[in-house]
Amino acid sequence: MRVVVVGGGIVGLSSASALADRGADVVLCERDSLGSGSTARALGGIRAQFSTAVNVDLTLASRPVWESFEERFGVDIAFRQTGYLLLARTEETAAGLERQVELQRERGAETALLTPEEATEYCEGVDPDEIAAATYNPRDGFADPYLALQGYADAARERGVDIRTGTAVTDVRLDDGRVVGVDATGEGAPSDGAIDADAVVNAAGPWAGELAAMAGLDLPIEPQRRQALVVDPERPVPESDPLTIDLETSSHFRPERDGAAVVGGYFADAPETPDPDSFSESFDVAWAAETVERAGVYCDYFGDETRLKRGWAGLYAVTPDHHPILEESFPGFVQAVGFSGHGFQHAPATGQVVAELLLDGEASTVDVSDLGSDRFERGELLHERNVA
Ligand SMILES: Cc1cc2nc3c(=O)[nH]c(=O)nc-3n(C[C@H](O)[C@H](O)[C@H](O)COP(=O)(O)OP(=O)(O)OC[C@H]3O[C@@H](n4cnc5c(N)ncnc54)[C@H](O)[C@@H]3O)c2cc1C
Repeated sequence: MRVVVVGGGIVGLSSASALADRGADVVLCERDSLGSGSTARALGGIRAQFSTAVNVDLTLASRPVWESFEERFGVDIAFRQTGYLLLARTEETAAGLERQVELQRERGAETALLTPEEATEYCEGVDPDEIAAATYNPRDGFADPYLALQGYADAARERGVDIRTGTAVTDVRLDDGRVVGVDATGEGAPSDGAIDADAVVNAAGPWAGELAAMAGLDLPIEPQRRQALVVDPERPVPESDPLTIDLETSSHFRPERDGAAVVGGYFADAPETPDPDSFSESFDVAWAAETVERAGVYCDYFGDETRLKRGWAGLYAVTPDHHPILEESFPGFVQAVGFSGHGFQHAPATGQVVAELLLDGEASTVDVSDLGSDRFERGELLHERNVA
């Protein structure tokens, strides 16, 4: 089978690599350079602590790859398994965490419910008086997204994937309702622009809606701007600290090196939904001040002496229920899109699922039957409570 994968982010490269591993003949088209979309802007967080079964399953199916990445791909991705600590600051959120622990444990995750005092054993800066309960999973963590992307790119090349950067797909060609290839332009495109294929994988990240529209498909995917900040906190953050999230506000932080921390959160009433081709890639100063202030409410590392080092903005590709669309929409056209803030961590399982959808006709790594795009028309949206 000849497949064109559109998009050279972590999802496209994982998919291309998995397809080639199973014998497909794969061309990957990336209009810019590899990782130039959302992937290089991610924080690299990996967690099993989600509130829906399919999100937990996608993490648990991906985790073996993250835990043995260097053995498999020969690249050290700086994976630091210091866990995630989720904080509930109201009784209602605490009750939700209790239900989630049950779900996560049923599916095979090790998450534990903690009292406020126990939470401080994992993150000493957390103020126990500010929280009602917490959960912790020791096998959650974070890695460097760009290094992981390089690992997948090397593996894809070794398996024979023809990676064409500087090559934009401009149309998805159909014949009698099935995919027959794409039209492309740029340095890797043939002179007539046509690349024939039996299948096309949409892994175009924040541009996925545009790519789907080329095949006449209307998908509810919105690019939403998100920011991140590196700070030198007033009190250094120990490198052994977990990635900590205040579920009430989405404020979160994780340790960097030498006491520094990456801090983030999304506090606006309405999302910013810019054109993915032209949005501000630097952070907003007012947002930065609010972000540090909000982290300081529940964690005493972030006092008034906290200093900003640098920051950036990138895009989430968001669906109405913050879950991806993973399906073969019609013969030969697969969507691996709309991952919100979770596309990095779910990329290993996603690549396997994409290969299974095309080569086996159904997914076996994870049951993705809830992730079809028809859920929006049917009004059967999923509900992820833990979004940051
Ligand atoms: C601030 C921030 C923090 C985040 N933190 C995390 C985190 O902690 N954990 C996590 O799991 N996720 C996180 N994410 C989300 C994560 O970055 C994304 O879900 C993930 O990178 C999506 O990967 P992708 O390959 O689908 O998309 P992308 O990396 O955006 O790749 C899509 C690629 O498609 C290319 N493309 C688009 N259209 C075309 C076309 N027509 N022809 C050819 N190429 C095309 C683009 O140039 C782009 O390179 C974060 C995101 C942001 C912005």
